[in-house]
Amino acid sequence: MDAHAPVVGVLALQGAFAAHELALAEVGVATRQVRSRADLAMVSALVMPGGESTTMSRLLATSGLFDELQRRIDDGMPVFGTCAGMILLATEVLDGRPDQRSFGAIDISVRRNGYGRQVDSFETDIHVEGEALPFHAVFIRAPKVVAVGPEVHVMASHDDVPVLVRQGSVMVASFHPELAGDARLHRMFVQHNEIRKA
Ligand code: GLN
Repeated sequence: MDAHAPVVGVLALQGAFAAHELALAEVGVATRQVRSRADLAMVSALVMPGGESTTMSRLLATSGLFDELQRRIDDGMPVFGTCAGMILLATEVLDGRPDQRSFGAIDISVRRNGYGRQVDSFETDIHVEGEALPFHAVFIRAPKVVAVGPEVHVMASHDDVPVLVRQGSVMVASFHPELAGDARLHRMFVQHNEIRKA
């Protein structure tokens, strides 16, 4: 292990963070669960997992993490948001709770639970740009992207709706890539942002 290698944080206030750590470990980067500002100070990139965006928004505020995380994101820290993490990073959230906050880090409008309720959760294979083999995407009460700004690059769509998009160092997915047993999207995040391996 290289003690100076960058550490990729996984926001661990709530939700599906453990499987993200496994995927990142498979890619070969060091990881750390982030629950406090002290944890955040030790990481140079962050994965924001799926879960419940309203709960995460509340916990980000009560833990004192929200403003510091906003500052780091505004400073250009690479972030990968999945499902609820996508909602938290979007510029506009439709059907959110009035008090839920988001970071406005990627110029997309998302509709919370836009694919329907828990019973409407589904799995499908998607084509990701640059990848020969399909990626198995698990959608769980997923947010639906309803608009993307001109700076946003669409990496994958499902039924003509973007489901994996990137803007600069911010990448977001409507689905749960950590549940696919396939670390390719985590590898893309690490490689695109030139995060060195441990
Ligand atoms: N619908 C959830 C929310 O509003 C997201 C679901 C998920 O992350 N699997 O945050």
